[in-house]
Amino acid sequence: MIWVGFEKFGQSAYISQTKVTPLISYLEKGVIVGTRCKKCGKMYFPPRADCVDCRTSEVEWVPIEGRARLITFTEVYFGPPAFEQSTPYVLGLAEFDNGLRVFAPISRNLDREQLKMDLELVLKPRHSGEGVFYQLEKPD
Ligand SMILES: [Zn+2]
Repeated sequence: MIWVGFEKFGQSAYISQTKVTPLISYLEKGVIVGTRCKKCGKMYFPPRADCVDCRTSEVEWVPIEGRARLITFTEVYFGPPAFEQSTPYVLGLAEFDNGLRVFAPISRNLDREQLKMDLELVLKPRHSGEGVFYQLEKPD
């Protein structure tokens, strides 16, 4: 099972293997991608196969790059099965310059005391055991 994202704070969501296959293969290459609606330009991460606004399946894969600002974070004590061993961990909500908001675990390299609003973060793929996932980290 590969963990791909959170629908809501502290709640995990698994996306069917077929839908996330492109995301996983991109992650394995070290690239994080979302989907963008070809009609209205709305970005989705985790990627969606359709746009909720336009109800179209005309979406394209686009890399998610650049800096994000931390909006809020929470500590998670009961994680999804794939993450049970790593609880507790910190889950953050960060916003990119283009307005895209992403929920992701925050790297353990960041001390809890360092976490504050507007902290600059980047989204990076990481390997963990058999799987690959993504997390928010301090920019290099
Ligand atoms: Zn759309």
